[in-house]
Order: sequence, then C-alpha cells, then structure tokens
Amino acid sequence: MAFNAQVWFAAVNGYTLIITEKPDAASRIASALDAAGKAVRKTENGVPYYVAKRGTDIVVVPALGHLYTVAGKKKTGRSYPVFDFRWVPRYLAERGAARIRTWLKVISKLAENADRFIDACDYDIEGSIIGYSILKYACGGKENAAQRMKYSTLTREELEKSYDEPLGILDFALIEAGLTRHEVDWLYGINLSRALTTAAKNYSGRYATLSTGRVQGPTLKFLETREKRIKCFVPTPYWNVKAKIKVGRRVLEAEYEKNPVEVKAEAEAVIADCQGRDGETEKVNVKTFQQESLFPFDLGSLQSEAYRLFRYTPMRTSSITQRLYLAALISYPRTSSQKLPREIGYKTILKKLGKLPEYRQEAGELLGKPVLKPNEGKKFDPAHPAIYPTGNLPERSLNSAERNVWDLVVRRFMAVFGEPALVQSVKVTVNINGNRFQLNGRRTLDEGWIRLYTPYFKSADVVLPVMEEGQKIGVKQVVLEDKFTLPPARYNPSSLLKRMEKEEIGTKATRAGIIQTLNTRKYTQGEKIEVTDLGLEVADVLNEYCPDVVSLELTRKLEERMDAIQQGNETRKNVLRDTIEILKPVTEKLKENERAIGERLSQALTAARLEERVVGMCPVCKNGKLVIIRSRTSGKRFVGCTNYFEGTCKTSFPLPQKGAVKPTGNTCKSCGYPTVWVWIRGNRPWNLCINPLCPTKKKT
Ligand SMILES: [Zn+2]
Ligand SMILES: [Zn+2]
Repeated sequence: MAFNAQVWFAAVNGYTLIITEKPDAASRIASALDAAGKAVRKTENGVPYYVAKRGTDIVVVPALGHLYTVAGKKKTGRSYPVFDFRWVPRYLAERGAARIRTWLKVISKLAENADRFIDACDYDIEGSIIGYSILKYACGGKENAAQRMKYSTLTREELEKSYDEPLGILDFALIEAGLTRHEVDWLYGINLSRALTTAAKNYSGRYATLSTGRVQGPTLKFLETREKRIKCFVPTPYWNVKAKIKVGRRVLEAEYEKNPVEVKAEAEAVIADCQGRDGETEKVNVKTFQQESLFPFDLGSLQSEAYRLFRYTPMRTSSITQRLYLAALISYPRTSSQKLPREIGYKTILKKLGKLPEYRQEAGELLGKPVLKPNEGKKFDPAHPAIYPTGNLPERSLNSAERNVWDLVVRRFMAVFGEPALVQSVKVTVNINGNRFQLNGRRTLDEGWIRLYTPYFKSADVVLPVMEEGQKIGVKQVVLEDKFTLPPARYNPSSLLKRMEKEEIGTKATRAGIIQTLNTRKYTQGEKIEVTDLGLEVADVLNEYCPDVVSLELTRKLEERMDAIQQGNETRKNVLRDTIEILKPVTEKLKENERAIGERLSQALTAARLEERVVGMCPVCKNGKLVIIRSRTSGKRFVGCTNYFEGTCKTSFPLPQKGAVKPTGNTCKSCGYPTVWVWIRGNRPWNLCINPLCPTKKKT
C-alpha cells in the first residue's frame, strides 16, 4: 500500500499523539484543544486524523473501537479444546475487518514521529484496553511511556482540563482486569460454542452456529427456569369480596380485609353476613409523608426507564446514549454511579439548559434555590459520575429517539434537585356487621420534584371523600369475584437486564449485547421473552453435561475475582489458570457425549428450521400445518400441508417465485387464511394472503 501524502509528516517533527476510541471523539478533542478552536482534519488512505496547535503540535487519531482481539495461537479449524491464545489485530481474526489493517498502518506511521503519547479513550475497561493495545502493538511499545486523559464529558472545558492535567501513567489494574475479561470470555466462548456446533455438525452434516458463553449460559438458564415455571403453571382459584358503598353521591369499592380468600364457602359466608346491613366507618387513618425524588441515572436505570417510557430495548438505549455522549450533550453513559459531584457545576449546567424555552421555567426555579443538593443513590463508580446533561445545546437536529432520551436525562437531572413531594394517604376501615372492609386514598399535596420530571412520572392519586369515624355508610351491594392465580410474568429486555445486574453477571458494556445475542441465535423470541424449543434444548444440554458452566454461583465468583484484579487483589495469571482448570473437564465431557448432544441439538435445529417455515394451520384438514416448501424437482416454491407426507391432505397454494417469503404469524382479516411477507429487492415488503380466492384479490 502506498503512503503518498507524507508532506505533513516530513515537515513536522516531534508532536503529541493523542489516541481516541472513536472518530467523533477525535474531532471534538482536537477542536477543543486547538488554541484557535479550529483543528485541521486530514485523511490518509481514508483514515481521518486531526492536527491542532496548543503551544506544541498535537495530532489526534481515532481508533474504531477495538482494533485488537483475542485469537487462537494456531489455526485449529473447529477443533477443541483450545487454551492457547494471543492478541492480534482484528483483521487477522475476523472476517469483514479488513479496514483495520489500513487503520493500524496509519496509526503506526503517525506514531513514528511523535515524541509524546496520550491515551484519550473512554475511561473504563473497554476504553482502557483499546488505548493500551494500540500503544503497545501499533506505536512500538509506548504503553509505559504514555499519559492518560480522564474525562466524563466531551465538553471543551473538561477536555482542556484533562489534557492540561493528564494522569502520569495508564491505569494498569483496569487494563489487566479488562484483558482478563476478554481472555476468559474468549476461552469460554470458543470452547463451548465449538463443542456444541461440532456435535450438531458431526451428527447431521449440516452446519449451524450454536453459541454459548460465560454470561450467556447462566442468562439462558434463568430464562429457561422461568419458561418452565410458566409452561407447568397450574392456575388455582381464589375469591375477592368487595363492598360497593355509598358516600354522599359517590359509590366506592371497599376491599374485604382478608382478600384474597382461598375457600369459596368462606367468601360466601361473608356476603350472606353483610346482606341487607349498613356499615359504619370504624377508623379513619390519615398520614402525610414526604416522597423523595428519584436518583440520578446510571446506565441500568436509564435503560429501564427508557424501556418503560418509550419501549426502547437496552441495546437501543445504549447506542442512543453513545451518540448523545459523542455529541457532547450528556456525560459518559457507561457508568454505574448514582452520584453527581459538585465539580460538574450544577448552576452552570442549569443556566445553559434554561436558554431553551422548554426548560426555562424549571431551570429558573432551581436556580432560585439557596442551595442545590442532589438526591443521590448509594451506587458509586470510581471512573465516572451518574449520567447528566452537559448543558450544551444540540448543534445538529436530533432524531426523535435521541431527543426523547436527551429530554429524559435533562428532566431527571433537574428532578434530582427538586423538593420532596408531599403526599397524604388515607386509610378508612368500614365495618359491615363485624366484617371489615378497607378504602385506600392517596393525594399529592405538593408535587415538588414530580413537576420537574413531568411528563415522565405521574402520581397515582385516588381522592376519597371526607369521612369521619363513626359515620353511617350505606351499602349498595357486596359482591364476589372469581379469580385465578397467574403464571409468573415473562422477562422483557429491561427486567432481564435488571436481573443480570442484580446477580452481578456481565458488565454494563456487555449485558445488553448478550440479551441481543440470545435473540439472534433464536434461543429466545418476542419482546416478552419466550424461550424457543431450540433455546430450551441448548439450556438442557448445558445443564446436563456442564452444569458448572451455567451455574450462577460459579459465574459470579469469577466476576468477583476479575473485579479483584481491578483492585489489585488478584492476578490475571491465577484467574486464567483456574478458568482453564474449569474448562478442561467440561470440554472432555462434552467430547465424550458428542453423539448424544449432537442428536439432541440436531433435532432441535431441524424442528426450529421447520417452525420458521410454518405459515399457519391448514384450513382444509384442520390438523396439518402449512409450510413453505421448495420442490426438489421443479425448484418452485409453494405452500403445502404437512399431512401431504402422511398421504391425508393435498392442500397447496402458489407463492411468488421472486424475492424472499416469510410467515407473518397472522391470518387474513378478510378470509382467515394465513398470510406471508413477501419482500422483493427494491420494494417494500408486503403482506400477502395465500388464498388465491380471497375476496381482497377480486378487484383486479
Ligand atoms: Zn391439510
Ligand atoms: Zn384472504
């Protein structure tokens, strides 16, 4: 490859080379550091870098996230176990990473004439190893000479400060912990996934990717446990007794104090007992209490709030926050802190936000307070504070998702400084012939912080009429409600993420991706996460042949030890040695049982492939399934009934021969036959009813 644009290199010698994680960050850092605020963008073979002047010359070059990765020492095909690894440029280990080769060449070239190195990647595990490996492998062993910029926002003020006062050395404890994490995950992933994939391939002759991993396995396991509880759930009946009482003109529903009632006769006896009787208020209990504001956002709570309000998956929220961070609108999002230190400058941020009409009133109100004190949570993160708005206003127009998340972060930030809300709760006990019924009321007297967090929080007020003790109460009716207990709820992406957080498996940076992977592998489906038959089979196989690997306890113990490396209380060598000790017997056992495992997985895969082609029930024989079939003889595609193979049903329907066809899982509103998606390149996918005689097709 020819590097011809070397004019600039030749002219300038001795500059500071700053390495960032992403191109956007490089551009921001360069223009923040340039004395005139205008860095010069250059490119070399398509790789951008920036030149700034600040006393000395500065060159800022970005990475593209991870440029290096863990790979096997030797090429081993699909064989396992593999325990020897090394760090290599990504283009050597991954398909589709060819661009990385050029990228690294340019960085190396820029490193040649640099006399000072600064790592300005994001200050966390991932960022630290990105910077470290570039300095070590692409810059000729500069990892021990480099300085470290530490910042939580991409605002000019903070970037200038972090450049003027850099940390003297890289954070090696963090780097060791990060390298260990990647290596351990690689060892788990490569060995277990190869074992499963090979077993299925050797049995059926067909290749399909079956993966599992250190965190993926236990996550699939608790999804599976929940799925089985749902599938085996037997509803049991119970009864609720309610009294419809009259207070003034209003009719209110009071709950029997012993609800739910498990024996029907008991509930009926209460009703008989109340028949024709009036009631009397026995006790009126009024309490006023303060409701403190919510805490500042850490990544997990922001992901769960964005899911609750906008139905964004954790993965989506994660990428939106990343963009807002790179646009210098919010602070670093991958944080587990619920603290907002004073140094971030509460007042300055509020003043800047107050320039926008939509925040003017709220910001003004807060700025009028004598003291600004955030209502902080317990969680702390040494690297970054909680997520907060920088006070910068958007320089480009935000799309609606970005706007939603930014507004949410801004309003949560303001709410954190708000006064507690004042809430009154009222509990009234009504006695009907010796049976007690309860009314619960709730009223917000002063909204406090809730007003600042509008429209994202609504207080659920139930206002009761004024009642006194000893008041006669008219009873309209006492009723019995038949109920059945419900199965446990399915996880959704947000509650699953919370469970992983609670069990302390995975990291802020990886959890959302693991949930996504389970879906991509078709182990799970749907927003209310359902484990597929394939997912259940994989989970069963893992449970049976390598219970240690999916054990929550073992996974958590390993997490703790990797955290300990970060604290300097454990070594990478120990953890890697023990990981291999865990995996050795596991891979042996998987190998011994390869045939049995292969048979189970192959059958599950075959069923899953068939399931993907099922468009619906056969409307003719009513017990076969209609599937998309390609004829071996003519090569034509059509829909046929599975009972054809049993010789009992010959129903078939034509399909378009061009484009892709997928089941929709729905039926036609007009004729009730199943529908399919048809997608032809260059067109929008459309919904097609498979019935050629469908009334919707008559108009042509
Ligand atoms: Zn049929
Ligand atoms: Zn139809």
